[in-house]
Amino acid sequence: MADHDNLARELNVARPWKMLIGGELRHGGAGVFDTIDPTTGKVLTQIPKASAQDVNDAVAAARRAFEETDWRENGNLRAKLLNQFAALLEKHANEFAALDSLDMGMLNMAAKRFGVRSMVRNLTYYASWVDKIYGRVLPSTMPNVLGYTRREPYGVVGTIYAWNAPLLFLGSKVGPALATGNTLVMKPSELGSLSALRFAELAMEAGMPPGVINVITGTGEIGTALVEHPDVEKISFTGGVETARRIAALAAPTLKKLHLELGGKSPAVVFADCDQDLSAFTAAMGCFAMTGQACIASSRIYVEESISEPFLEKLAAACGSFKIGDPFEQDTILGPVISKAAQERIEGFVSEAIQQGARLVVGGMPPREAPQGGYFVAPTILTDVDPASRVAAQEVFGPVMTVFRFKSVNEVIKAANDTPYGLAAGVFTRDVGKAHRLAHALRAGTVWVNSYGVLPYTAPFGGFKQSGQGREGGWEAIEEYTQTKMVHIDLGQC
Ligand code: NDP
Repeated sequence: MADHDNLARELNVARPWKMLIGGELRHGGAGVFDTIDPTTGKVLTQIPKASAQDVNDAVAAARRAFEETDWRENGNLRAKLLNQFAALLEKHANEFAALDSLDMGMLNMAAKRFGVRSMVRNLTYYASWVDKIYGRVLPSTMPNVLGYTRREPYGVVGTIYAWNAPLLFLGSKVGPALATGNTLVMKPSELGSLSALRFAELAMEAGMPPGVINVITGTGEIGTALVEHPDVEKISFTGGVETARRIAALAAPTLKKLHLELGGKSPAVVFADCDQDLSAFTAAMGCFAMTGQACIASSRIYVEESISEPFLEKLAAACGSFKIGDPFEQDTILGPVISKAAQERIEGFVSEAIQQGARLVVGGMPPREAPQGGYFVAPTILTDVDPASRVAAQEVFGPVMTVFRFKSVNEVIKAANDTPYGLAAGVFTRDVGKAHRLAHALRAGTVWVNSYGVLPYTAPFGGFKQSGQGREGGWEAIEEYTQTKMVHIDLGQC
């Protein structure tokens, strides 16, 4: 196992971390709180806790940057600074990856290949959109009238997000929000704040104008204060459905615009004609990557009856091959879960399912080989599960898969769609007809065929049903962070 104390020393993690408000690095007005390394269970460092005054100051700074500077009109400046910032972040790639691995247990390899890349490429990709955000000239229906549209930023956008992929969120929210001329007040999760605080330090070094990016840390109360603040015009939220419901209620008095990226209970449908070895490995990775702590986790697998037992064995074999352990070791596939509370919650889902008659195919026990003191859960497969039970119907957000059998296409479409969620789905088949039929019938924002979890920053991503509203990624994120203004001009009678 890597020496986490030494890694923390090399990264100077014990230093007093500061928030970014109006171009100044500041201590939290409400003190500090501990953050824990989930691999060891030990306190890693302390994070500033914002006060109500800090929230007000951050929003006021963002509003000044929006109202009193040329930020929103100067696209060249925004593109230049986003590219400059991305280049600086890339120079610190290893540092960012290590911070997230220590802070929230992300596999170091995944943090480098997926996290840092997403953060950097989202900034450069959206910088390249700045000079392509066109309005339209309306066809003339009356003489001497010119009508055209503009896409304009909202103003101050508050971003509140989960702990499970902080580097991705730094890119996928900051890139389009700033490229379109908004200013930001960001609140990362209390369980994954370090990379955002480092991001804030480098934003200043990259020359971001004061107030354009503000980062405040703390618990959910800080998120509440942001949602309720009358000067915040839009909230971009990534997190759980229950929190989103509270946020929607808090946003009601100011009728704030909401962009919601929420949880899922995503199905993967496996037909007998698929490449079974590849499909089993892909479906297993779809569920167990990020230790099952992914919004898109393929946690419900539907296997055609004729291959259900051999396919279950292949899924179990894939699980058996996954090394559980230190996120810094190259061959680790499952790192820790985020906290002791998460570990106990996940174990509770599994033991309840077994008590209710589910068959445990693999997992279920605490993994023996994992580092002592950390929060580890073995990849677990359950079958013969009641589809209405908690483990089959609710988001576990841990490495737990439920496997069902099906006989017909119509039956599996109905079963896969029988959920309030609609974030993602997978289909495994060599039959092009079945692939398209399922891709159209499954009620999910993203459907993968013979693959799972591919998330290019050029592609729109978001949920159907209760998995969210709005989209991240691609052109759709430009639309998400802008509103349409119509301009009518009377040309007179000259
Ligand atoms: P939470 O909903 O618990 O928290 C998300 C963020 O909201 C955190 O920053 C949290 O702060 C903040 N928050 C909590 N309560 C409030 C409140 N009352 N008002 C305003 N803000 C609040 O989610 P998790 O962090 O546990 O993340 C897991 C969830 O996120 C899963 O459901 C997962 O599916 C979803 N997710 C969705 C993604 C998508 O793109 N669709 C991507 C990744 C995750 P704090 O943590 O400090 O309390």
